[in-house]
Amino acid sequence: MTRLADLTDPVPGGHPGDVDRATALSGELAGQGVHGVVLSYVDTAGVGRVKTIPTAKLAAAAAWGVGMSPVFDTFLANDSIVTTDVLGSPDGDLRLFPDLGRLVVLAGQPGWAWAPVDRVTQEGERHPGCTRTLLRRIVADAEQRHGITFKAAVEIEWAVGQGTRADGEFVPAVSGPAYGASRQIELGDCMADLLAALAAQGVDVDQLHPEYAAGQFEVSVGALDPVAAADRSVLVRQTIRAVAQRHGFVVSFAPAVLAEGVGNGGHLHLSAWRDGTNLHSGGDRRYGMTAEAESFAAGVLARLPALTAVTAPSPASYLRLRPSQWAGVFTAWGRETREAAVRIVTGTLGLRDQAANLEVKPVDLAANPYLALAGVIAAGLDGVTSGTALPEEIIGDPARLPAEEAGRRGVRRLPTSLAEAVAEFRADTTLRGALGPVLADAVIAVREGEIAAVAGLDDERVAAAYRWKY
Ligand code: GLU
Ligand code: MG
Repeated sequence: MTRLADLTDPVPGGHPGDVDRATALSGELAGQGVHGVVLSYVDTAGVGRVKTIPTAKLAAAAAWGVGMSPVFDTFLANDSIVTTDVLGSPDGDLRLFPDLGRLVVLAGQPGWAWAPVDRVTQEGERHPGCTRTLLRRIVADAEQRHGITFKAAVEIEWAVGQGTRADGEFVPAVSGPAYGASRQIELGDCMADLLAALAAQGVDVDQLHPEYAAGQFEVSVGALDPVAAADRSVLVRQTIRAVAQRHGFVVSFAPAVLAEGVGNGGHLHLSAWRDGTNLHSGGDRRYGMTAEAESFAAGVLARLPALTAVTAPSPASYLRLRPSQWAGVFTAWGRETREAAVRIVTGTLGLRDQAANLEVKPVDLAANPYLALAGVIAAGLDGVTSGTALPEEIIGDPARLPAEEAGRRGVRRLPTSLAEAVAEFRADTTLRGALGPVLADAVIAVREGEIAAVAGLDDERVAAAYRWKY
């Protein structure tokens, strides 16, 4: 559930109590052998960027933030830089303010703690390119205007490869079959250390399992308010990478580690709540949904073609977004339908009031999780505001629907390339409006930069270009 504390923008000098709290915290951290704090955010391209500070500087960071250029908002995954009207210039500086409430000691990286940041200008104003700030604002508006709060979780899939250098070919670290018992044994020590590290960091893991693709695993975690869920998704990936490295493995969260076959998804789970009641359960609409939950799902479905520019932001995302690979590439919904872009999860009898949610599948881990959640929530809320009707559900694989029937039922294939997704995004004024002009322009410029960066490359080379970037 939303904590109101999450909704407070940082201010120069810190909020009352912040500096005292950070001073006490840095003493405790030093006592636990923590030498440095990683200040973490995710750029528009979906790449995690950091600064680090010595633990003794935490109070100063809580008061005044830490400097970092806004130029990273228009970095590409290959670290080249594009520009918009306001971003991408070598001028200016921002302040990174750690969220002290989210600071954790990194169990997989002894000597380090980690905290997500919000970025503000040197004048103490919100930075319009800060995706974490955007998500905080969207969540706060939803509560103020609609009385709706959210719970969210990001599923994480990744491939484990042999070797310590994350640059060349991918050689799977396990040989067992999909979901196979032997994979669990092959990587048992590493995965036990991962579970221990996540538990030590307060991450509530639901499941960890061997997945379908070569060397692939998946972890699912408990739902939190959306900002915390996005923070957690970054933290979990940081932990997976660090623990794997200590075992001599490399990991890839890229949408398509290899050009062919099943990719890495980053499915979003989302439920809307009012006054402590789950709107996806106990209602009089299909599968127990309330009218608002149906309209929320309909709003997401309607904007999915444009949303893919946010949720599937890499040229490699479109190697993953192929029919019949459980990535959900049609604008369709169904109950527990793994080929529909929106899967209605009712939960099992007895747990429904807690567990019912909707899952959005055409999302990968190249996506900035703050931006992806902001976009999906904005789309759903637009559905609620407009009372959008949820169409007929789809049973089975929408790829098998005859074209005429798919057309009649409004089942559309999602964009098959980043260029198509950008065209949809450009045309969607509601979505661009929800992001604001600075971020919307950054999304367009960065995606166009990625498209140019892979011009003329075949699928194998596109997969290789992004394999070790996320
Ligand atoms: N790997 C699939 C994807 O790319 C998802 C598999 C699953 O349903 O867990 O989305
Ligand atoms: Mg999976």
